[in-house]
Amino acid sequence: MLDRENDLNAWDRDHFFHPSTHMGMHARGDTPRRVITGGEGCHITDASGKTSLDAFAGLYCVNVGYGRTEIAEAIAEQARELAYYHAYVGHGTEASITLARMIIERAPAHMSRVYFGLSGSDANETNIKLIWYYNNILGRPEKKKIISRWRGYHGSGVMTGSLTGLSLFHANFDLPRAPILHTEAPYYFRRENRDQTEEQFSAHCAEKLEEMILAEGPDTVAAFIGEPILGTGGIVPPPKGYWEAIQAVLRKYDILLVADEVVTGFGRLGTMFGSDHYGMQPDLITIAKGLTSAYAPLSGSIVSDRMWQVLVQGSDQLGPIGHGWTYSAHPICAAAGVANLKLIDSLNLVQNAGEVGAYFRAGLADALGAHAHVGEVRGDGLMAAVEFVEDRDDRRFFDPARKIGPAIAAALLEEGVIGRAMPQGDILGFAPPLCMGRPEADTVIAAAAKAVKKVL
Ligand code: PLP
Repeated sequence: MLDRENDLNAWDRDHFFHPSTHMGMHARGDTPRRVITGGEGCHITDASGKTSLDAFAGLYCVNVGYGRTEIAEAIAEQARELAYYHAYVGHGTEASITLARMIIERAPAHMSRVYFGLSGSDANETNIKLIWYYNNILGRPEKKKIISRWRGYHGSGVMTGSLTGLSLFHANFDLPRAPILHTEAPYYFRRENRDQTEEQFSAHCAEKLEEMILAEGPDTVAAFIGEPILGTGGIVPPPKGYWEAIQAVLRKYDILLVADEVVTGFGRLGTMFGSDHYGMQPDLITIAKGLTSAYAPLSGSIVSDRMWQVLVQGSDQLGPIGHGWTYSAHPICAAAGVANLKLIDSLNLVQNAGEVGAYFRAGLADALGAHAHVGEVRGDGLMAAVEFVEDRDDRRFFDPARKIGPAIAAALLEEGVIGRAMPQGDILGFAPPLCMGRPEADTVIAAAAKAVKKVL
């Protein structure tokens, strides 16, 4: 119990502008004003002393779990030794150079260099600029459009908010729509033609993409961006054959592939990268969250060998690249990353994510799969979602005014477990720390079953 809990609540109400929050509801006290004070393993504690099992790992980022002293010590040591030096004009620190090496050692074989940023959003902003720069170097000034997918999530910046295919993140902000386009989401459960197999639906998504490229003109389309498995858009794994079919189209028209692995990078699907898991050969990979397990803010754009060769040639033509952040490769964040990747290896967390993930998803499907209002239990690795429907046969949505997803997440919290009501549709999402064990998975499953029973 924190003595100042009441003060903190008042200061929060009066001074704190929260991200992704209904401001009016929060001001009225209708959203939880929860002050988090500590964390250990898969659990967090709040100022009132209440503990919850965090089955969403913060925002699917605290992958090694809370309270890891190895990372805290690495951060403290780096701060004492050298809190900051920039990475411009060829400067580096032991931590940032070591981390770059560790990332490339773990990344798919054809990846070559890492450009560091601080958030998934800024890493995707970097990717967009690199894609445009690349085509300018190659003398293709018209090849600039970027195709994203409905339900994709790629950040909240001015361009990355446009890439994000969830209207909440771009409607009412007047973000530039061009040169961003959105194609169909690989959302098999919500396909229009219920007779289609997964492979047929994948072929349909690839056809839609090709139609869009032909309509726009292949010489104007630069890149396609996608999360290996849709995350914020509802935790939707790709249907069978999806990435194979999409990549065949991209190759045909010389279009770059960006794998946004902000969520899937460093083990969440039971493989180091989601690209390995689904057979993707990206030209750029976005990384963030799992890179430091959120112990410090750090992101990266991993550049493929083929792109790197062109960028190097570009410098000889154009001079130094005019793109940099003050905090790129910040040594304290890099030290957190090095310690984090070492922990992922030493605790075997990638393998654990695969094994406990399979156990967790099977248990969730057993407990909830037959419920009259559960349309689908899905996921991959340590990512899972339960989608609720008014009617199982026609997959009808509930009236949004009933806010079924948030109601179930709130009931789950009362059972001591944190899940996430995904922003679009009545979907309860789970992405626990990769260190979650089977007993904790059982606790989450039992709590989810109780919460669903309470609401539906
Ligand atoms: N890309 C993906 C796939 C994400 O899930 C997120 C955040 O959830 C981002 C990008 C944006 O990252 P950030 O919130 O660090 O800017």
